[in-house]
Amino acid sequence: MFKIRRIYDSTLVTNRTAIQQVKQISRKQFPRLNKSAINKITDQLQNPFRHGFRIVLFIAEDAGGDVKGFAILSHEPQLKFCFLDYISAAPKLTGRGIGGALYTRLRQEARLLKTIGLFFECLPDDPKLSRDPIVLKENRSRLKFYEGYGARPIVNTLYETPLNPGDDNPPYLVYDPAGYSRPLRRVIAKKIVRAILEGKYQNLCPESYIKIVVNSFKDDPVMIRPFRYVKKETLQQEIPPIADDQKIILYVNDKHEIHHIRERGYVESPARISVILKGIESTGLFERRRAGRFSEKYIRAVHKSGYVEYLHRMCEKMELGKTIYPYVFPLRNQTRPPLDMPVRAGYYCMDTFTPIHKNVYIAARKAVDCALSGAKSLLEGYRLSYALVRPPGHHAERSAFGGFCYFNSVAVAANYLSEYGRVAILDIDYHHGNGQEDIFYERQDVLTISIHGNPKFAYPYFSGFKDSTGLGIGEKYNLNLPLPENVDGEMYAEVLKKAIKRIQKFFPYYMVVALGLDSAKGDPTGTWNLTAKDFQQNGQLIGSLRIPILVVQEGGYNQKNLGRNARAFFQGLWNSAFIH
Ligand SMILES: [Zn+2]
Repeated sequence: MFKIRRIYDSTLVTNRTAIQQVKQISRKQFPRLNKSAINKITDQLQNPFRHGFRIVLFIAEDAGGDVKGFAILSHEPQLKFCFLDYISAAPKLTGRGIGGALYTRLRQEARLLKTIGLFFECLPDDPKLSRDPIVLKENRSRLKFYEGYGARPIVNTLYETPLNPGDDNPPYLVYDPAGYSRPLRRVIAKKIVRAILEGKYQNLCPESYIKIVVNSFKDDPVMIRPFRYVKKETLQQEIPPIADDQKIILYVNDKHEIHHIRERGYVESPARISVILKGIESTGLFERRRAGRFSEKYIRAVHKSGYVEYLHRMCEKMELGKTIYPYVFPLRNQTRPPLDMPVRAGYYCMDTFTPIHKNVYIAARKAVDCALSGAKSLLEGYRLSYALVRPPGHHAERSAFGGFCYFNSVAVAANYLSEYGRVAILDIDYHHGNGQEDIFYERQDVLTISIHGNPKFAYPYFSGFKDSTGLGIGEKYNLNLPLPENVDGEMYAEVLKKAIKRIQKFFPYYMVVALGLDSAKGDPTGTWNLTAKDFQQNGQLIGSLRIPILVVQEGGYNQKNLGRNARAFFQGLWNSAFIH
């Protein structure tokens, strides 16, 4: 089994290893390829636009992360076309379906980038142009392979004019309209051919040669060679709209229903999950997977052991169906934990509406597992993942629960990812993300940002102030953006842009978004007026960062619009993460 994925950068560990392997394969497979061209791959991913082209790299890798093949595509956004530079499978693996899978992925990308299709060069299958019978045979089978997808050489031009008269094997220019049936207009084709000869062959083609070739395009539309090897009816035209590596990997807490507080007015209800699921399913953007099981040590890395242990033991001890609410809140820093276990709930809690019952530990632990699974997907090379969980987590501090939260799933996942590079946390819940602030307040490798209702009127009241900016080396790595009681989409977007600027300056490798949908119009816990359109815009702005993003579900309690708003957010996020 192998999977195909696009490599977006050379900063992530998994990508660096893959690029190393791509270089090795290309040295073996393209021995005549200029060494500096191979070394340039990394460089070009980091500074993508060169000579008007953006380099796009795809790899085929097996389950162990070994690269079995790769393809390099150049995207020209002005003229809206793609040029295929190289496609290769590792030695001895050619012909095992990897080439076909890679090529299908390239066609998907050409469609996604809204181009008119793929252009590439192929050695000729005409014995007059390819004199060695062995090479000729190879050329024929290659052209036959591409013809199976509808890609055929452009004819009746001088493209296959050898640079040096008499050279063997001058390449054809092949065009694959990537499933479209629009004719290729001459005026466009001429510009594209010039861009290819100037951009791809920089100093090799003299202007006089370029002119001869470009002016030889006389047909309008440009003529494509009739099918020679394949019957038109057997074409592999089907292009799935979304590639596997562009799916948002979804983890849903399947244990969340055991955490059900039946008291009237307890808005954090199990129905929230099914409403969101229903809303996002129809987009086709998600691939649902089972969450893995992670050790408690990841939780203890951000929460105090005493607190984790208390919650675990307290839940175990409780009778099923019983619920306790904390009712004594000793002033911290001066006190010792009360001996009586139910009383001690107040020692670890910050409000009177977040109860403990038998299943709290199991449900919260499972939510953390989902967030960690989502983080792991990013390490594997996926760009977007989503932990659709409850109970939420962003109010849980190092040793305190509250605000319906017990373990801070966002913080656990961010801390896990921070082993692999800088992480930014962006909390867009209506309420301040006090948990992350508390946990990362003295760290500079995890940037914490929260946009929320001003603590003057919004929960948790004691935190979220503008002047809480971090401590020690963490100074300036916590940014609070408190907003007034009435906020619309426009005002929100302005503040979100500020947050994004700060994130860009931080240059994170990964980002975790605490997604609260309680900033929506009509939310019983909020005062703002965001609509589906605003959520789409927010998703779009966040996706424009173009880094791997894990989204973790936090608040959002108006079941009438939860599904619609979640769908809009992810559509915006996906669009700007992949279409550019
Ligand atoms: Zn909230």
